[in-house]
Amino acid sequence: MREPWKQELSCALHCFRCNERLSSKDPRILSVYDHRVICMTCKKSEEARPDYPEVSMQMAEQCLIHAESGAGDPHGYCYHHFYPFCYE
Ligand SMILES: [Zn+2]
Repeated sequence: MREPWKQELSCALHCFRCNERLSSKDPRILSVYDHRVICMTCKKSEEARPDYPEVSMQMAEQCLIHAESGAGDPHGYCYHHFYPFCYE
């Protein structure tokens, strides 16, 4: 079964934030703010936001809670918030 977010991540043709075209070779990443697919330029501007450290930490903490409950991160949902992804 494919997770909807995963399909969104690999099939996204545009950045959700700036609408920049994404080819299969362009890295894309999930926003820690709204979990949408964004390009690396938008990721950089997210990182520049003053509340980014807090928001990304909360995101990472939630992942840790999942991991401790035994659910882990089997589909890489958390991973893809922090590591750019190319589907080619
Ligand atoms: Zn963008």
